[in-house]
Amino acid sequence: MFSRLCALYPEAHCELDFSNALELLVATILSAQCTDERVNMVTPALFRKYRRPEDYLAVPQEELEQEIHSTGFFRNKTKNIRGACRRMIEAYDGKVPDSMEELLTLPGVARKTANVVLGNIFDKAEGIAVDTHVTRLSGLLGLTQHTDPVKIERDLMKAFPRDQWTAISHLLILHGRRVCIARRPKCEACVLNDICPSAFAPQVKRGVRPAN
Ligand code: SF4
Repeated sequence: MFSRLCALYPEAHCELDFSNALELLVATILSAQCTDERVNMVTPALFRKYRRPEDYLAVPQEELEQEIHSTGFFRNKTKNIRGACRRMIEAYDGKVPDSMEELLTLPGVARKTANVVLGNIFDKAEGIAVDTHVTRLSGLLGLTQHTDPVKIERDLMKAFPRDQWTAISHLLILHGRRVCIARRPKCEACVLNDICPSAFAPQVKRGVRPAN
């Protein structure tokens, strides 16, 4: 599965635009319930204005809310970004921490965001980033029976060797966007259709995962 997806998507990478750890952390928080494309439209101006955690705290909350408004859930996201910045200043010398344990102490940061930052900035694979595409495809491909992201991540960590953990998340996300599209999967064109237990199952088109 991994080698076929790698051959199909040799360019697979994190689709959020960023140039440092703080930018990726903020972009990942913004990407909750929002497309990467939309986040990438908002972040260039944001990252020009806010370069350090202190900068996010130096403006009134409403100003930041307005700037990220189009990514949805803007009040909560503003609270999380500012809370994470405050915590980084207080506990981590104003830097994005580089361990799972420390990242999880930042408000609004759960394992998915921590895995994205660890894998794409610090080249550390402590887990696998599980988003909606990874959740859906893991079920369809028979890699997990669970729907809880933490349990899905655990199953994926058993299924793939550690050096594939960061990449498999990017690969499943791309495959979910281009081929195994929710409710209209292109099974006939899928490179996994001979090993996927859900291939050509009519329920998949109705958004229901077949029993594995
Ligand atoms: S065979 Fe169909 S259901 Fe399975 S991964 Fe490919 S597109 Fe998705």
